[in-house]
Amino acid sequence: MDKLSPQLRHNNMAAIHGKETKPEMIVRRWLWGHGYRYRLNHPRLPGKPDIVMRKYRTCIFVNGCFWHGHEGCQYYTVPKTNTEFWVNKVQRNKERDAKVQHELASMGWRSITIWECELKPISRDKTLASLDFTLNRIFLQDHSIRRYVKPEEEPMMVAEDMADYNNINDV
Ligand SMILES: [Zn+2]
Repeated sequence: MDKLSPQLRHNNMAAIHGKETKPEMIVRRWLWGHGYRYRLNHPRLPGKPDIVMRKYRTCIFVNGCFWHGHEGCQYYTVPKTNTEFWVNKVQRNKERDAKVQHELASMGWRSITIWECELKPISRDKTLASLDFTLNRIFLQDHSIRRYVKPEEEPMMVAEDMADYNNINDV
């Protein structure tokens, strides 16, 4: 159903491909409004992740469904002209995404992918609630491991960790 004129399609794709895409802004505004802090396009991490949350050792990628080939998604429709070009391009993007996330994982970073379609008004609240839940779970995982390791044998360690935990909550 390729109803767009070539020029419109070009504009559309240029808009989707930009770094400051609207879907990414939705996530950033939501994070900021909920007290989450992040930095953008971290230059020293593989793939220059869109949003980097150091405290959670987590990178968030906000992916356009077309460019990143969201399988089974209604927004990932291959254009009827230059089909092979687009299929190859999207395939390369997907391979790069997988490689970047693999590299991040090997450095101990988690990756969260949010698809553009998941930020449409009808599913936005659910998506962001799920992100909130995931980030909280990550935080608890990271900060509960040491506290449960032999607490009676390392009382000082436990006390220190609890102090860290409280400090982090105060920030
Ligand atoms: Zn999608």
